[in-house]
Amino acid sequence: MNMREQIEESEVSILHTYNRFPVVFDRGEGCYLYDTEGKKYLDCAAGIAVNALGYHYPGYDEALKAQIDKLTHISNLYYNEPMSEAGAKLVLASGLSKAFFTNSGTEAIEGALKAAKKYAYERDGHAGHEIIAMNHSFHGRSIGALSVTGNAHYREPFEPLMGGVKFADFNDLESVKAQVTDKTCAIITEVIQGEGGIYPAEQSFLEGLRQLCDEKDILLIFDEIQCGMGRTGSYFAWQAYGVKPDIMTCAKALGNGVPVGAFVLNEKTASASLKPGDHGTTYGGNPFVCAAVSKVFDIFARDMILAHVQEITPYLEEKLDMLVKEYDCVALRRGKGLMQGLVIQGRPVGDIVKKALENGLVVITAGSDVLRIVPPLVITRAEIDEMIGKLEMSLKA
Ligand SMILES: *Cc1c(COP(=O)(O)O)cnc(C)c1O
Repeated sequence: MNMREQIEESEVSILHTYNRFPVVFDRGEGCYLYDTEGKKYLDCAAGIAVNALGYHYPGYDEALKAQIDKLTHISNLYYNEPMSEAGAKLVLASGLSKAFFTNSGTEAIEGALKAAKKYAYERDGHAGHEIIAMNHSFHGRSIGALSVTGNAHYREPFEPLMGGVKFADFNDLESVKAQVTDKTCAIITEVIQGEGGIYPAEQSFLEGLRQLCDEKDILLIFDEIQCGMGRTGSYFAWQAYGVKPDIMTCAKALGNGVPVGAFVLNEKTASASLKPGDHGTTYGGNPFVCAAVSKVFDIFARDMILAHVQEITPYLEEKLDMLVKEYDCVALRRGKGLMQGLVIQGRPVGDIVKKALENGLVVITAGSDVLRIVPPLVITRAEIDEMIGKLEMSLKA
C-alpha cells in the first residue's frame, strides 16, 4: 500500500476527530522521523512535547524491553517495583510529597481536581466547593478536565459540564481575586499556556497566586503536562519561578512516549485528601509505563538533559528572533526553553505548517496564529540550523 492508500484505509475505520496531515509516520531515529515511503523529516513537534529524548535514545528501549520480559501489568491491588522507583524519582525531582500515576494528562487533571475537592470537603465537612481556572487554558478533553478548560469552542457542545468553575484571565491577578469566594477550593493554571498559544506566566502572577492561596487555604494546582519534564530547562517550569504548587500534574514527556501521567501532591494535601477508595485506575502506574518513567529520570540525570536545554536555549531563541526580524509574517516570539511559539500574521499559520511538512520539517500550531516549536530536548545546534533553514523555506513560500 502506498501512503495515500494507507490514509484512505485509516479513514474507513478510525473516527474522524482529527483533520490529520497527509502523512503516515513509520519510524524514528534521534530527532528524525521517516514516513512509510522513506521520506525523512526533522521532528520539532516531538509527538506534541512527548518524545523529549527523541527516538531510540540509548538505554530507553532496552529498559522497556527488559520490563516486557518481566511483567507489563499487575493492577493496583498489588505493589510493583517500577512504580515505587518512578514515584520516588518524581517526588525527588518535584520536591513534592506523593504521586499518583495515571494513563494520560487528562486523567492527571481529574485526579488533581478530585484531590482539591476532597481536601476542602475534609476541612469544611461539606461539598459544594468552587475552582478557578484561566481563560485560554487547556487541561484535557474529559468532562472534568474540559470544565476547567477556558476555550468555549471545546466546551460548548458538551455543556452542562462540571459546575462550580469560574474563569479568570491568565497573568491578571486582580481578575483571579475577583472570582474568589469562601467556597473556592483551588486555582488551576498552566505555568506556560501551551495549546492556548505559548504564553509564559509572569513572575508576579505566580507569586500573587501563591500568596492568595496561602492567605485563604486555597490549593494551587500547576498543570505541567506540557511545560514540565525539562522542557524549559528545569524539571518543572515553576521551579525557575520559585513558586511551588500544592498539586502538580504532569504527563506528555514523563514517559517519553508511553501513555503515562501523574498528579503529585505536597504533604499538606496528600495527608488530608484522597484516602483508600476515593480514587483509582486499572492501568495507571503499571510496571511497563513506570519502567519507562524511571528510565527517563535516570537518563535525564546521567546525560544532563536539563543542562543541555539550558545551554541550547539561547541559541534557539537567537535564531527564532532572527526570523522575527527578517520576515514580516513573523510578528513575535514567545516562550521559554524548548517551548517556543512564533506569532504569525497576515497569513494562516496552518499553511506554513503544511509547507514545512513538505519541506521535511514537523512543527505544529498553538492557538489560532502561533507556530509551535517543541522539539526533542536532545536537539543539537546543527539540527536547529536545519530547522531554521526549513522554516525559512516555508516562510518564503
Ligand atoms: C496535553 C495537555 C493536557 C491533556 O493531556 P492528555 O494526555 O492529552 O490527556 C492537559 N494539560 C496540558 C497543559 C496539556 O498540554
